[in-house]
Amino acid sequence: MTEKKEVANAPEDVHSFAKPTEAVARHLDLDINVNFDEKVISGRATYQIENLAKTDHIIFDTRDLVIEKAYISDSLTETTFEIGKEQKHLGQPLIVAIKPETKSVTIQYKTKPDAAALQWLNPQQTAGKQHPFLFTQSQAILARTWIPIQDSPGIRITYSANVKVPPALLALMSAENPQQKNSTGEYRFFMNQPIPSYLMALAVGDLVFSPIGTSTGIYAEPATIAAAAHEFAELDKMLVAAESLYGRYRWTRYDLLVLPPSFPFGGMENPRLTFVTPTILAKDRSLTSLIAHELAHSWSGNLVTNGTWNDFWLNEGFTVYFERRIMEQLYGKEYADMLEVLGYQDLQHTLEELGPKSEDTRLQLDLEGRDPDEGLTDIAYEKGNFFLRHIEQAVGRERFDLFLNKYFNTFAFKSTNTDRFLEFLRTELIKGDEKLARKINIEGWVFSPGLPKDHLVPASKRFEQVEQAYNSWKNGTPAAQLNTKDWSSHEWLHFIRMLPEPMTTQQMAELDKAFHFTNSGNSEVLAAWFLHAIRNNYTTADQALETFLTNVGRRKFLVPIYKALTATPEGKKKALAIYAKARPNYHAVSTSTLDELLKK
Ligand SMILES: [Zn+2]
Repeated sequence: MTEKKEVANAPEDVHSFAKPTEAVARHLDLDINVNFDEKVISGRATYQIENLAKTDHIIFDTRDLVIEKAYISDSLTETTFEIGKEQKHLGQPLIVAIKPETKSVTIQYKTKPDAAALQWLNPQQTAGKQHPFLFTQSQAILARTWIPIQDSPGIRITYSANVKVPPALLALMSAENPQQKNSTGEYRFFMNQPIPSYLMALAVGDLVFSPIGTSTGIYAEPATIAAAAHEFAELDKMLVAAESLYGRYRWTRYDLLVLPPSFPFGGMENPRLTFVTPTILAKDRSLTSLIAHELAHSWSGNLVTNGTWNDFWLNEGFTVYFERRIMEQLYGKEYADMLEVLGYQDLQHTLEELGPKSEDTRLQLDLEGRDPDEGLTDIAYEKGNFFLRHIEQAVGRERFDLFLNKYFNTFAFKSTNTDRFLEFLRTELIKGDEKLARKINIEGWVFSPGLPKDHLVPASKRFEQVEQAYNSWKNGTPAAQLNTKDWSSHEWLHFIRMLPEPMTTQQMAELDKAFHFTNSGNSEVLAAWFLHAIRNNYTTADQALETFLTNVGRRKFLVPIYKALTATPEGKKKALAIYAKARPNYHAVSTSTLDELLKK
């Protein structure tokens, strides 16, 4: 076998200028003011540092920041600094002069109005329409656009922060959080557990809190809080299920923050405070596997962290696996099987898009010279998950769970990487058993493109019924007579994904009349249905499509829809017209992908 061998030290992070083996930050004290009028965050970042190599400088990552002054030591002695050459995707290194004995560095700075991590929403873009809103999205390498920071997932810091906001608004961070507004608009935060920079997070808005259990709760705008509290009422049960699988929850509280619809992701696992899209407020709790996913990140990702973005599957593959285990524990195997089949469909689709020989279909990626965001595909998530399922099948669930528990404990609050994980897999699970090693096939799964032939192909009993209904519709049974009683979002999604191409307007209209897809309140159903509407030129859905695209900023939905639109010249014209209106409602994470897509 030609597997990669052990690596003693963490590989250098090609997406950060920092040199943590020379001088490294250990604690950040942030003192900032949030100015909505100018769309600027300004203030000071003070770092407790360790000058390991007794060098005369420390390097931070910055992108589009205005660096005003730098100081060393607690007495704030001004020091010199240099801003290095700009590199594509990475920004610029900030090199601050220090002394061998320097223990703290303070950087006075401000952000630019178009800082990529920050989305400033005007009142019209919120649910309540009264107050502005700000949220951050730091993953993968956007923390450096709002804080000068050593922006590598291999470096962990604790932090504290003073944040000043307009008095009508509440500030929240990935830290110990207040539960109500105060009259001064000044909030103090502590995060005493070391976290990687991509988990630095801030949200400011007209927010209220609603408790669920003793250590769980929800923040949302007043207009959204009741719906959110209903949707996520089972949060506590999820936490209990997760702990029963892989050990104690280590972050004290687990709260959710429901953001305005422009949030570019489904969720972001900011520690103690998951940021979540309102598009999963389906009224029937049918899309809460996303919460199980973000909660699972409290172990895989936040506790044990990918050391570089090339190891992203260690965060996401483990989390998808863990998410489905939580869902299985709570709602049974038949339920989890549906998620597994839908995930497998996503994976097949991604493999087709990237091509079976693409290097980007390997689990360990090579993202040097590229935006690490490009590694954020279903490969890390679903191929990673199916690799773990494959190991589970090879050794049995009981043994695999013991192994995972030990893995989370051994690497708690540390960063790891693919080589270190594989070393752990060999010493703790394979233990020289060559037959098992061949069966697990590390080389085939981790370092080779595509999917190994002996991968598990998931099946779902509940989907078999969907397939029966679909077939009888195709054989002439009217849609209105199909037995679709008790179908969840997942069954509907499976049904819609199966629909043939092309369909006649009559067929589309018949389905729509029977199942009200165009007017569905479920974002997953809508997004899947719109793809058929676009391909079949079903103009009845035009208005709903436009409303969806101008309101929702979640990239997972936007990209396939815009892509489908651009397949024809008329569609592309429509796409550009909608995009011109909708673009101000999207976060930079979404616009950077869509600008590229619509330029072509
Ligand atoms: Zn995730």
